[in-house]
Formats: sequence, structure tokens, C-alpha cells
Amino acid sequence: MFTLKTIGVLTSGGDSPGMNAALRAVVRTASSENYEVIAFRHGFKGLISGDFKRLGPTDVSNIIQRGGTMLKSARCEEFRTEEGRAKAADVLKKEGIEALVIIGGDGSFQGGTLLAREHNIIVIGIPATIDNDLVGSDETIGYDTALNTAMDAIDKIRDTADAHDRLFLVEVMGRDAGFIALDTGIAGGAELILLPESLTDVNEVRTNLNGILHEQRRSSLVVVAEGDETGGALKLSEKLRDDFSKYEMRVCILGHVQRGGAPTARDRVLASRLGSAAVKAISEGHTQVMVGIVNNAIKITPLKMTFGKKKEINFELLDLAKKLR
Ligand code: ATP
Repeated sequence: MFTLKTIGVLTSGGDSPGMNAALRAVVRTASSENYEVIAFRHGFKGLISGDFKRLGPTDVSNIIQRGGTMLKSARCEEFRTEEGRAKAADVLKKEGIEALVIIGGDGSFQGGTLLAREHNIIVIGIPATIDNDLVGSDETIGYDTALNTAMDAIDKIRDTADAHDRLFLVEVMGRDAGFIALDTGIAGGAELILLPESLTDVNEVRTNLNGILHEQRRSSLVVVAEGDETGGALKLSEKLRDDFSKYEMRVCILGHVQRGGAPTARDRVLASRLGSAAVKAISEGHTQVMVGIVNNAIKITPLKMTFGKKKEINFELLDLAKKLR
């Protein structure tokens, strides 16, 4: 006898451009494989409270190009507790949901791993975070869009910095990872790039900036990752203010603008591939895994491996940035 199986899906943690495209791919692939899809609103919060709706292929029309997430996202303290996860498991069992697809970042996957372990539920992760900090995928959904948003802002800041021979410290997001800073720094031609992955020597920063501003007489733009151990652009500016008072040093913290906007083509394609791969992973019998893309091919990685260790940046790129400045 033919049995219709049910998949649950939610978006969790920080939103990232392309989450909608991933949801669309999950729903449409599921439908083509005869799964029913139940989507929870507000991430784990909606899973605990049973706030859901059934989604069919036409419910996800016209969302591939939209930023944010139509399901809404949330941070949920209750899900960090065993009681909270037990409530979530009850909702899943009551609705006959055998597998849960989590579109989110490392925190969401940690929560999902515990839910799976404690209640024997199939959990499949789709990496969606602008931070790009998950092991098991070369890129995460939303990273490319955030990168292009930050680069666009840096280009504009460069124009005004150049007009006045100013020194700009531009802070970009990424939590404790420097991927956005490294790539936007190179793409925006930054004079210096400060990352959490490499030790920042403030004296060396002073010397380098002196060379560029005094000797080469040109504007300077420093990209600072929010997780850099100097404490970010504002704190760094306090350390440098006295040395560079004549250059009208300016601090620009790009902030949440990096999370928003329509996903780039690259993110839409990535999200479509991963959304579809997540459903395929369920039908192939995978259990606690994340679907990712490595060297342009789908790769399945055990969920617990994706957040256990730090994803490495490419230090060759940092050397390249130094050479080209
Ligand atoms: P991003 O990296 O884009 O912010 P994220 O998924 O890492 O996304 P978090 O806020 O870290 O975002 O986590 C999202 C939710 O996952 C939390 O609000 C919480 O409900 C759950 N979660 C995070 N860490 C754990 C944990 N160690 N145990 C149980 N649940 C967790």
C-alpha cells in the first residue's frame, strides 16, 4: 500500500538571503517524491508551540527572489532545554512527521542534533548563514549575497574616503569567522584586513597605515571583522585616534544591511540544489546529516561534524591581499 510520508521544515537562527529559495526547493522536490510538507513558523519556537501550515508547490511560488524568510525565523531559549525539545518532539509525532529539515546555522544544527538523539527523529540540515562558518560546505546560503552587499557598501565608502584622503575603518559581520571580511577586503581593495583567524598587532596596523597615508598620500580603507580580537572597528578607532587625528578617521559598521536583500543568482542556485538534496537525502535513508556542496558536488556530512570544529579560512588569500595593497 502507498503511504504518504510527512516532512517538517523550518528556518532558524539568523536569517540569510536564499532561505526562501531553499524552502521552495524542499517543498517542490518533496511534492514530486510524494511527501507532504508541514512548515513551522518562527523556527524552533513554532515547532514547540505547534505553529505550522501545510505547504504545496504553489504556496512557494514567487519567493525564490525574496530575502528574509516567509516562515520567519527566531532564536528560541526554550529549545535549549530538554523539556523544550520534548515538547517539540511531541508535536512532530502528533503530526506524523518522520523527518525534520532545518534551514539554519551551527546553533540550529546543535539543537537539531540533540532533538534527533533524544527523540529518534530524522534531522537534515541545510546550511544557511551569512557567516559561512559551517564545515561540510564550501559556501553557505546567504554568504554570497552578504558578500556582494558589503562589497557594494565598501565601494561607496571608498569614493568618499578617496575624495577627502580619509581613513575609514569598515566593520563587517561574520561573528567569530572572518570569511566576509577576507573576501570583501580583497574584492574592495582594502589596504588592511583584520580577521579573528589571524592575530592583529595594533602597532603593525599603525605602521602600515602610516606608510599608506603619509608616504603614499592616498586614502586608506581597513576592513575589520566583527569578531577580530581588537574588539571591532569602534574599539580599534579608539586605539588609533591620536595617531591619525589629521586624517578624519571614520568608522562605518555595516551591520544588518548585510543580512537583507534579494539573494544573488549564486545563492539562489546553491539554495535550490541544497533544498532538493535535503529531500533526496531523506528518501535515501540518511539520518543526522547536513547537505552541502564541496568542489561543486553535493556532499553529505554527519550533522555533528559541521559545527564541532572551526572551518578554516584560506590564508593564501590573506597573503594575496597583503601583496596587492
Ligand atoms: P546564525 O549562525 O546565522 O546566527 P544559528 O543557527 O547559529 O544561525 P543560533 O542563534 O546560534 O543561530 O541558534 C538558533 C537556535 O538554535 C537557538 O535560538 C536555539 O533555539 C537553538 N540552539 C542553539 N544552540 C543550541 C544548543 N547548544 N542546544 C540546543 N539548542 C540550541
